[in-house]
Amino acid sequence: MNHRCSDHYKKLLWAFAAVCTAAALSVSALADDKREELADQREDASSALAQQEAELEEKEDLLDQAVQQGQAMKDQKEEITSQIYQLSEEMALLEDQLERARQAVNQKQAEYDGEWEQYKEIIGGMQLLHDRGELAYLAQAHSLYQLLTFSDSLQQISQSQDQALEELKKQKEELTQRQESLEELEDQLEAQKQEMDGKVQALSGQIQKQDAAISAAQAEKEAQQVQVEAAQAAFEEADAQYEAYVRQQIAQGAQDNTLYCGLDFGCPLDSYARISCRFGEPDGWSGKPHGGTDFAANAGSTIRAAAEGVVQAAGGGETYSYGYYVILYHGKDDAGRTIATLYAHMNEAPPVSVGQAVAKGEAIGRVGNTGNSKGYHLHLELRIDGNKTDPMVYIPG
Ligand SMILES: [Zn+2]
Repeated sequence: MNHRCSDHYKKLLWAFAAVCTAAALSVSALADDKREELADQREDASSALAQQEAELEEKEDLLDQAVQQGQAMKDQKEEITSQIYQLSEEMALLEDQLERARQAVNQKQAEYDGEWEQYKEIIGGMQLLHDRGELAYLAQAHSLYQLLTFSDSLQQISQSQDQALEELKKQKEELTQRQESLEELEDQLEAQKQEMDGKVQALSGQIQKQDAAISAAQAEKEAQQVQVEAAQAAFEEADAQYEAYVRQQIAQGAQDNTLYCGLDFGCPLDSYARISCRFGEPDGWSGKPHGGTDFAANAGSTIRAAAEGVVQAAGGGETYSYGYYVILYHGKDDAGRTIATLYAHMNEAPPVSVGQAVAKGEAIGRVGNTGNSKGYHLHLELRIDGNKTDPMVYIPG
């Protein structure tokens, strides 16, 4: 299970809580007005930044949508173009078939014409026989039988020629039908191709428009990024002004011994696994009552100042019992008691130094396993008038 401190998500919330407390309790009303004003400015800047970021997200979404729509159009165009290519190949094959069909028709026509010529000759012969009498043939005929059969033969030949011509005519008609059906198919494919060409042309126009829309959305996004950067800079400026003022106040308070502690603490970790040893329980090292609270947490987790204060001690080392550690002095509470917190077993030398003023929630080190420690954890102590007290009475877990 992962514990989270409810008031510890954002530095801003820390500071806001600190402002409220300080405004209610500080000795200098004028100074607190200034602090409140700076905190308000910082919060306004933070809200403005959040708004600009939300608008940027919206514009990024619009751009993504436009790009996706454009891509869908391009995909569709590519799909139809490839269909047209396939269709063109089919049409080329069909054209070959059609050419062969036309040749077959022509060939059949030639066969027919040849047969027809022969037929005409035979018919001509028969005509001659009728028109000029049988004398000419009679002269050529060697016998009466021959003469009689000649006429019969001519008629027989004429009949079979007639049948052959009929057959050829039928074949030619079939071939012509095939040619015509192929031509019909070709017309259909041509119509399909024209329709697809039309679609591709329409899509090309749409894609051009969409590309313009994408460019416009891109420009809007970039303009919004500039707005976000400006809002970010404004926030950082307001944040720096607030923190500088707070630090100066803390340092001043520590110096003239008027630093006030409202006992308004935040959790020193954004998240931790569990409390591995409570205050007063026998500790895992010596078996003596534990002087603080142990938060088992991931190595390197940020440790934050539980309240604003001044660094009283920062150092230690790998072999020092506290390992690397920091002590913060928070000033005096309403009862005039001095309040301090200690953070031990950090993974390396802390990034703060003695005398430095730190805001509530500011990073003062990282979770480690140095010193008398058997696992990554933060050992947190609360010292009231120098006496170790159960931190969890004041500090939200
Ligand atoms: Zn401990």
